[in-house]
Amino acid sequence: MALSGLDIYKLLPKTNCKKCGSPTCLAFAMKLAMKKASLDQCPDVTEEAKKALSEASRPPIATIAFGEGDNKIETGGETVLFRHEKTFYHQTAIAISVEDTLSDADLIERVKAIEELSFERVGQHIAIDMIALVNSSNSSEKFIGALDKILADSKKALILASDNAKTIEEALKKCADKKPLIYAANAGNLKEMAQLAKSHKAALALKAKGLEGLDKLAKEAARLGVESIVLDPEPATLNDALNDFTQVRRLSLKKNYRIVGYPIIAFVRGKDKYSLVQEACTYIVKYAGLIVVDSLDKEVLLPIVTLRQNIYTDPQKPVTVEPKLYAFGPVDENSPLMVTTNFSLTFYTVSPEIEASKNAAYLLVTDSEGMSVLTAWAAEKFTPEIITETIKKFEVEKAVSHKKIIIPGYVSVISGKLEDTSGWKVLVGPKEASGIPKYLKETWQ
Ligand code: SF4
Repeated sequence: MALSGLDIYKLLPKTNCKKCGSPTCLAFAMKLAMKKASLDQCPDVTEEAKKALSEASRPPIATIAFGEGDNKIETGGETVLFRHEKTFYHQTAIAISVEDTLSDADLIERVKAIEELSFERVGQHIAIDMIALVNSSNSSEKFIGALDKILADSKKALILASDNAKTIEEALKKCADKKPLIYAANAGNLKEMAQLAKSHKAALALKAKGLEGLDKLAKEAARLGVESIVLDPEPATLNDALNDFTQVRRLSLKKNYRIVGYPIIAFVRGKDKYSLVQEACTYIVKYAGLIVVDSLDKEVLLPIVTLRQNIYTDPQKPVTVEPKLYAFGPVDENSPLMVTTNFSLTFYTVSPEIEASKNAAYLLVTDSEGMSVLTAWAAEKFTPEIITETIKKFEVEKAVSHKKIIIPGYVSVISGKLEDTSGWKVLVGPKEASGIPKYLKETWQ
C-alpha cells in the first residue's frame, strides 16, 4: 500500500535542513509520495525509516538491468504515463533476434551484421542494444552451439529465449556473468526458471496470454523470491498489445499496483517492412521496455531508433551542441561565415548543407539554451547583442578578414541592429538550411 505524504513526513528527520533541495521535510515528503523525488536525496534519513519508506520510494515500475560493463542496459524505472508530464528515463532497449536454426555461416554473418549496425543522428551514436538468441530448434545442443558463436563475436547484452529450463541452465553456465535476460517462465516451468534466475541473479521474463494469467504468474514469481522481472502478456494483435501494455502502465502508476510494476517485452516479427516499423514504433510509444525485432534492414531500424531517440529525449533539456566557431573544409580568411543557434537539430540540419555545398565555410554557434533560431529570437536568446558577444568571445575577426556575417533568413529583422552592435556587414541568408548550397554558390561574395 502506498504511503501518503503525511505518513512519509512522520518518518523523516523534520529538521528542514534543505539538503535534499526541498525547502522543508514536508515538501520533500509530498514529492516522495508523488514519485517526484528519491529517498537518497535526504542524507539524514535513518536506516529504520529507509526500510519503512522503501515501498514509497521505489519507482512504480522497477528498473531492471541486463548485460555488463559498457553493454549494460537498464529498462523500466518510469514514473509518468506521458513524456510531457516529466520525462521518460530508460529508453526502450532494442534487441535483434538470432534463431538457433541458422547455419553456422549465416549465424556468424547475422551476429557480425548486428555488431556493425549503427546510426549517427543529431550527433549521437546509436547502436543495437541486445541480441536475443531464440531456441527455435527446440534442441539444447543447437542452442548452446549458437550461444558459443555469439559469445565469441559479440559482447552485447543477451536474451536467452527458450521454454526449456534445462537448456537455459546449460546456457547460463556459459554466460551468467553477462547477466542475460531469461525468456521466459510460463505456468508450466515457473519453479525451475525462478530457481535459475535467483541462483544466477538474472532477470526473468514471465509470459502468459492476457493480464490475468500474467498477474497470477507475477505473484507466484514474487513469492518464489524473483526480484528482477519482465512481463510479456503475449498479445495476439496490435490492438491487444496497446490495451494490455497501457493497462500495465496505468495499474503500476495510477493504482500503485506493484505486482505488475515491471517493464514489458514485445516481439516484432514475421511482417512486411512497413508493418514491422508500425508495430515496433507503437510498442516504443506505449509502453514496451524492450522490443525484439527480427529484421536487420536499416530502412526498418532507422525510423525505429529515430522515434525512440525523440521519445526518450528529456523535454526539459533540449539537446544542444557546444557554442563555438566551427570550420567546415579547408577554411581561410576569405571563407564565408554563418551564424546559428546551439539547438542540436538546427546544427545537424545546417552542417550537412554546408558540407554539401562543397564550400569551405565557418559556422558560428551561439548559446541559445538549446532553442531553434525562431524560438530563440522570440525568447531573446538570439539577439544582436548575443551574436556580437559570441563574435568577440570566439575571436572570429582572427579567423576571417572580410567582416561579413550571414544570418538565417528567418531573423532578417535583426540585420540593422546587428550591424550597429557588431560593426560587421550583415548578409541575410536563406530561410531554410536546404537553401545554403545555392546561396553560397550564387549569392555569397
Ligand atoms: Fe528534511 Fe532530509 Fe530534506 Fe533535510 S534533507 S529538509 S531532513 S528531508
